[in-house]
Amino acid sequence: MKADILVVVAHPDDEGAVTPYLARAIYDQHKRVAVVFLTRGGSGGNDYSREHGPALADIREQEARAACAKLGITNVWFLLGKDTASQNVLNSLANWGHGANLEGLVRIVRLTQPEVIITWLPGVFIGENHGDHQAAGVLATEAFDLAGDPTAFPAQVAGATKRLEVYLENLTLWQPKRLYYFSDADDQKQFAGTGPAYSIREVSPSQKKPYWRLAIEAATPHLTQFPDVQQLQKMTEEQFNKFFEDPKNMFWPDPMTLIFGKTAFGGAETRTMDVFGGERNAPLPNQAPKIKVPNAANLPPGQTVESLPTYSGPSDGWVEIGGVWAFYKAFLAGHAISRFSSVKLELAVKSGSVVSIPFRLVPAHPNSRVVSISAELPSGWRVVSGDGSFEIPGNGPTELRVDVQTPELSKEALQNQKPVPITLHLSTHGQNFGEIGLHVLLKGNALPQN
Ligand SMILES: [Zn+2]
Repeated sequence: MKADILVVVAHPDDEGAVTPYLARAIYDQHKRVAVVFLTRGGSGGNDYSREHGPALADIREQEARAACAKLGITNVWFLLGKDTASQNVLNSLANWGHGANLEGLVRIVRLTQPEVIITWLPGVFIGENHGDHQAAGVLATEAFDLAGDPTAFPAQVAGATKRLEVYLENLTLWQPKRLYYFSDADDQKQFAGTGPAYSIREVSPSQKKPYWRLAIEAATPHLTQFPDVQQLQKMTEEQFNKFFEDPKNMFWPDPMTLIFGKTAFGGAETRTMDVFGGERNAPLPNQAPKIKVPNAANLPPGQTVESLPTYSGPSDGWVEIGGVWAFYKAFLAGHAISRFSSVKLELAVKSGSVVSIPFRLVPAHPNSRVVSISAELPSGWRVVSGDGSFEIPGNGPTELRVDVQTPELSKEALQNQKPVPITLHLSTHGQNFGEIGLHVLLKGNALPQN
């Protein structure tokens, strides 16, 4: 069961986001790869045959196993998360049964003992921004920190002394060495320099084919999600190569960056070092040391946690972004994930849908106060609910939201859209209390925000 790389993803076909790198690692670096799918992908559309729901999930599981087998990956698991179609990671975590799925993932980390975990980036970006992808990154990050902790799911590592033991699992504590992410964000250039980068057009010395080509071959079993693959297979070799010469037709960024998340070793490592470079060549300890998860005030040397913006009001408290952004602020600090520099508050939504801006009022004293909220919007956008004056209690933070109706744009207008700012202004007793800003891109299609 031992793996060098454990890939943790949400849906069958998600592994395809990193197959050009996996092809390199498997064929030319002789690394063993295991893949965990946290859902069986039952809620998407079926682009190839008639089955839906649980039957589609059964098909997707087989497609994913066949796709992994194309790269020689036989170490493939499916956990019990339910495919949850929204951009809100908290919806996915709740619908999956966060605790039970985390327990299952920690078990697989202890079983496969990976040197490296590669997973979806936990964060909010303009792009598919699938809540399930983010949730896979959340669970993988948690499992990275927990699998070496003897107090986490202790029955898994308890010694089984009875021959017919059925509860205690006899697993070994395990601390993976490095954690990397990849993202479904539209703008992949923003991740340049945040981790090691790998050419997808380089030719594999052992397979005599470029890595992108090996990755496409590995995608061919995903018929219910990628039926066009049959058209591609009808092309001549020349047509095929010509089609993918055009960067617009290529599925992967070139080079492909693996975003550095964290290392179990402090100090000398740099984020762009090769996945298996540096201390990774050191022999494994017999038993992994327990890694204490530092809190935000106690980060390992060289790591910083850049807080999301907080605006201070005049002694009366402050306002900060709420919802998933507040979750990620706490999550990244709690797991000592160093943020990469260009994180913005941004989101893409379907044109004509309502976008919500969640925010949190944190009072500085226990008296209630009246807070006035107004929204500064692009022309054609209007507030549906959440603006006006509200009496807010002083005995703890209050989470609120403003809902904004976005305009329904024509296909042509949608092609040239750029993210536009929405700003909420808050005041109390006539004094400025603070503001919250979010950049929103309108698209022809997007998963629901919540
Ligand atoms: Zn997916």
